[in-house]
Amino acid sequence: MTNDLLTFFHPGRLSRKLLRVVFALYFSVTITVTLFHFVAEYVRTQDVIRDELHQLEKTVHAPLATSLWQLNRIQLNALANGLVNMPVIDKVEILGPNGKAIIELKNYTSDNTPLSLFSIEEPLTWNLADKQIVLGTLRLWSSSDVIFDRVLFGFSVIALNAVIKITVLWYLFLWAFRRFLGRPLQNLMSQVNQIQLDKIGDERIDLEVEDDNELRRLQEHINLMLSKMEQDRQAMLSVERGQRVLLEEQVAERTEELVVLNKKLTEVASIDDLTGIHNRRGFFEKAQFLVDLVRRQNHPLSLLALDIDYFKKINDTYGHDAGDQALCHFTDLIVSQLRQSDVFGRVGGEEFVIVLGDTNLEGGRHLAEKLCRLVHDTPLDVEGESLHISVSIGVVERAPSETDVESLLKRADALLYKAKDNGRNRVEV
Ligand code: GH3
Ligand code: MG
Ligand code: MG
Repeated sequence: MTNDLLTFFHPGRLSRKLLRVVFALYFSVTITVTLFHFVAEYVRTQDVIRDELHQLEKTVHAPLATSLWQLNRIQLNALANGLVNMPVIDKVEILGPNGKAIIELKNYTSDNTPLSLFSIEEPLTWNLADKQIVLGTLRLWSSSDVIFDRVLFGFSVIALNAVIKITVLWYLFLWAFRRFLGRPLQNLMSQVNQIQLDKIGDERIDLEVEDDNELRRLQEHINLMLSKMEQDRQAMLSVERGQRVLLEEQVAERTEELVVLNKKLTEVASIDDLTGIHNRRGFFEKAQFLVDLVRRQNHPLSLLALDIDYFKKINDTYGHDAGDQALCHFTDLIVSQLRQSDVFGRVGGEEFVIVLGDTNLEGGRHLAEKLCRLVHDTPLDVEGESLHISVSIGVVERAPSETDVESLLKRADALLYKAKDNGRNRVEV
């Protein structure tokens, strides 16, 4: 109860606030109506008492007038005493014709004077030969105490009625507000608190409201909002998934492109710019591959080391561009005589190497001599002038123990120098 009262005056909840407003209104109205009731009862009782006083005056009028006419003081006192002792009368005054009090009796002292006094006043008259003589005035007083005595019981019933009504209604209000507003709102708060926005799923609010009222509609609105949020979340997730797939596809595409580019780059890095055949790097890679292959297959392999004769002179005489042209011319001649499986590379300025798979020393020498002749017999046309070039070649065949290209090349180079020493434009085996 104390707790209820405390929360009533300091409400932390909407239901309590509403309860306070409704109850305060009800309380004020009840108090006002009860007060009005009481005032009406008071006024009505006062009128009744006035009527009673008039009735009493009529009853004692004749004996009082007689006593006054006869100036019978004893009888006057007795009559006045009788009147003042009546429960409805608090004070009796008998006044002479000059308005001066002849008798004044009251049943209260200055200490317990009633809250308010009221009176009726009637002249005391005597009929003499059809003439009315005024002997004085009778004043009868009553008070609020008398009224209170009369209305107290009735008013207590009214007050008790009001108190019972207020108490019962207080509890009924409290119960009704908790049942129909407080509890659903509490439910709403705790359920909304439990909702995790990052995974709404099929979470729904259930306020256990059966009537079709604002709370139920609020519940429906929130649930609708939750499903929309879930839909949006799912849509966003699927967009995100789509974007991820797209991104992965793009990454895969780019990777593929990069692999192709890388391959091209490697190719470019192993090709000689000028002649378009393998450069030193490309040659060694391919040649070693071929050496490894024939070794496994136990097939013969020969290697030719070629160096154009007096090439410096060509440069010096016809210029560097003509030198370049001569290099291309030479390369084209050689390429025209090789098989697809042969590896041909430019390993120095005017130094070339050919590796021939499935070819023994005899086959190598045969080709070398053919190339030597072909180069010598096929001049290059430089600005209308025939430019003759020749080449010296060293030929070796792979020994069974030889596994790398370098050692073969080293041996072939030694033979190449021998060819140079022996006059150039020749083959040494
Ligand atoms: P040898 O008969 O003894 O081989 O004499 P050589 O003049 O051919 O020999 P050497 O090694 O003295 O000279 C090679 C020359 O090749 C020197 C260099 O200027 C030239 N050369 C190297 N690379 C290129 C090139 O790419 N283009 C041109 N035009 N000349 C080159
Ligand atoms: Mg050289
Ligand atoms: Mg040379």
